[in-house]
Amino acid sequence: MYCKCGKKAIVFRRYSGEKLCERCFNKSMIERVKKVIRKYSLIEKNDRVGVAVSGGKDSLVLLNILKKLSEKYPFDLIAVTIDEGIKGYRDKTIEIVKKNCKLLGIESKVYSFKKELGHSMDEIAKRDRKLSACSYCGVFRRYLLNKKTRELGCNKIAIGHNLDDEVQTILMNFLRGDLSRFGRTGSYYIYSNERFVPRIKPLREIPEKENVVYALSNNIEVGFSRCLYAGEAYRNNIREFLNKMELEQPTTKYSLLRSYDKIYPLIAKNLAKKVKYCEKCGEPTIGDICKTCEFLEKL
Ligand code: SF4
Repeated sequence: MYCKCGKKAIVFRRYSGEKLCERCFNKSMIERVKKVIRKYSLIEKNDRVGVAVSGGKDSLVLLNILKKLSEKYPFDLIAVTIDEGIKGYRDKTIEIVKKNCKLLGIESKVYSFKKELGHSMDEIAKRDRKLSACSYCGVFRRYLLNKKTRELGCNKIAIGHNLDDEVQTILMNFLRGDLSRFGRTGSYYIYSNERFVPRIKPLREIPEKENVVYALSNNIEVGFSRCLYAGEAYRNNIREFLNKMELEQPTTKYSLLRSYDKIYPLIAKNLAKKVKYCEKCGEPTIGDICKTCEFLEKL
């Protein structure tokens, strides 16, 4: 199997028929991320981008690619990590984040649930057995990411969602009938609120497997440990279904993403809700009290 340049190929993209050697593959990854950034104007001149880095492959590939781009284009980067307080998991990945940031010369900030909100994820999981750990974790993580990146002077938050994450989320929200969330899965999501930092997803057109290849080929040290609370059975079923469909029809994931992107402007406009400020903490919310304050009260 040979690349168009004549060298031995390391990647075969079934969805496009391309065979790529290591050099052409790496080049094409950067070009594809650049294309998505341009297409949706995700990053503009003089932006200060807070990159949400967990220490997993996707966020570290994103950090590495954005670092390369920031050397050519005028925008600034800072790595932001949320420490949920999950022993044996997050402590390991935080070390990996720090090593990567040092290597890349990027400032890194870590904010913990325990220090900022008073409870670690391990404590929460022991206390409340009715709600899943991930329900608390997702709400608290989004809250802290938004608040802290804003305080750091960032005007964008870049998150490492890949193609697989995106199409799983689209399908999950659609099948659950959660139209409010369904209308929030675009490449660029912004509430009309000055305290809300827009989230961007420069990797949303990159399949998960290609992020793994990019990390390996660029010697990026990434964390492979799995959170002990992970167990979202519904997402796992959707993942399996999409992978099976992709095997039969290799453009399934891209087709789903393209269809969603076509209807996104309509749904985003129609489902947009007025954002207010939480009566307790002052952070942006759709209700009177934000979900974080509601959950903290519960605890
Ligand atoms: Fe948090 Fe759930 Fe992810 Fe663990 S699996 S880090 S609890 S969202």
